[in-house]
Amino acid sequence: MNIHEYQAKQVLKGYGAPVADGVAITSADQAEAAAKQLPGPLYVVKSQIHAGGRGKGKFKELGADAKGGVRLAFSIEEAVAHAKEMLGNTLVTAQTGEAGKQVNRLYIEDGADIARELYCSLLVDRSVGQTAFVVSTEGGMDIEEVAHATPEKIHTIAINPEAGVTAENVAAINAALELTGDAAEDGKSLFPILYKAFVEKDMDMLEINPLIVMENGRLRVLDAKVSFDGNALYRHEDIRALRDETEEDAKEIEASKWDLAYVALDGNIGCMVNGAGLAMATMDIIKLYGKEPANFCDVGGGASKEKVAAAFKIITADPKVEGILVNIFGGIMKCDVIAEGVVAAVKEVGLKVPLVVRLEGTNVELGKKILNESGLAITAADDLDDAAQKIVAAIA
Ligand code: GDP
Ligand code: MG
Repeated sequence: MNIHEYQAKQVLKGYGAPVADGVAITSADQAEAAAKQLPGPLYVVKSQIHAGGRGKGKFKELGADAKGGVRLAFSIEEAVAHAKEMLGNTLVTAQTGEAGKQVNRLYIEDGADIARELYCSLLVDRSVGQTAFVVSTEGGMDIEEVAHATPEKIHTIAINPEAGVTAENVAAINAALELTGDAAEDGKSLFPILYKAFVEKDMDMLEINPLIVMENGRLRVLDAKVSFDGNALYRHEDIRALRDETEEDAKEIEASKWDLAYVALDGNIGCMVNGAGLAMATMDIIKLYGKEPANFCDVGGGASKEKVAAAFKIITADPKVEGILVNIFGGIMKCDVIAEGVVAAVKEVGLKVPLVVRLEGTNVELGKKILNESGLAITAADDLDDAAQKIVAAIA
């Protein structure tokens, strides 16, 4: 689950990280009062969307010369003018895709005088099985380019989970970021704080880009992008409360209510499967026969008929879906339950596109019988290869 920058900063502030004061607003009428709460004279007006690259982003409705999604303002009037121009418009960044994202919320922040922009992130480094800091002196808006062109400028410092962030780790991070004096002192408290927040809140990514050294020599978290492990959300009521469903795919929200793993993709074949491995194999074979999956919904093991029906409805709700492939290997999951769920869903929402079903495993004969006797226009397939060819042919 992702949250907005202003929320991420609130979480980090709770742990004692240095962040600027700021006020989130959802209408331009609130801009003046928000800016008046800040010391000035420099303000930053920041679009709050679940995507990065806002600074270099462009608003669809404004001309190519208009400023981006993160703007400096040198007076309250200018901050208000920016807010009026930005709110409600669609910001397109390198991470939003062409459609962009509507900016419904701004964060007006006390501006900082920047001496250096650094990069600092935390993630689980699977190659060492530890949480690691990934840092670079080359922070700011082009970190992907830095990683690509000059990978030697990116440093990874893994943290032993038993020891936590040691003085040695801090020294290594400070050295990699070339921090000295007050900034290095700030690093001694900041890096353990970031690690603590990451672990305690079950984050799966924490990216601060940029972490800045201000003109006064102190560190500040200037941008923050955080995502949380969805499987751990049950134990963080405070984090769940930060969810902004307007930023999420409606079908993914519905899927999460049913505890289904649904992933939206770009193609036009909807896939209902059980198990991540079978999902990957199903997508691979669709591509092998020349088409692309529109999504996949993993019903997992032991789903009920109702859950299967919910999954089927989520898949068919995507207007991109021109055909559906149900590919189930019944182990814990029983083929008859799948068949009943599919039949129930089709009876409720209808079937406007070709449907190919491949069932194998536990109660397969019963499952096939239920489908055959349903009177629905379902194409049966014998194996994975046959299924993929049939669905690709059906929508060609
Ligand atoms: P992103 O483009 O979505 O990553 O948004 P950021 O929050 O990282 O802001 C983009 C850029 O705006 C930063 O890299 C800074 O160069 C600039 N910026 C953001 N806040 C401030 C600020 O307080 N003062 C100054 N001078 N620049 C800022
Ligand atoms: Mg940034």
